[in-house]
Amino acid sequence: MTAGRPVSAEPWWQVEMELHRQRDGRCPVCGTRKRCWPWANANSARIVHG
Ligand SMILES: [Zn+2]
Repeated sequence: MTAGRPVSAEPWWQVEMELHRQRDGRCPVCGTRKRCWPWANANSARIVHG
């Protein structure tokens, strides 16, 4: 265990999903109308990690 790491920090995939969450039918970061790659990647990571 390393000290100095915030315990309440969200996992990266959660942050990523939040960033790339679709607004008005598209990703505000990528501008993609479908689910963008970062979102899909984060989503599968979330599934893997439970
Ligand atoms: Zn995106």
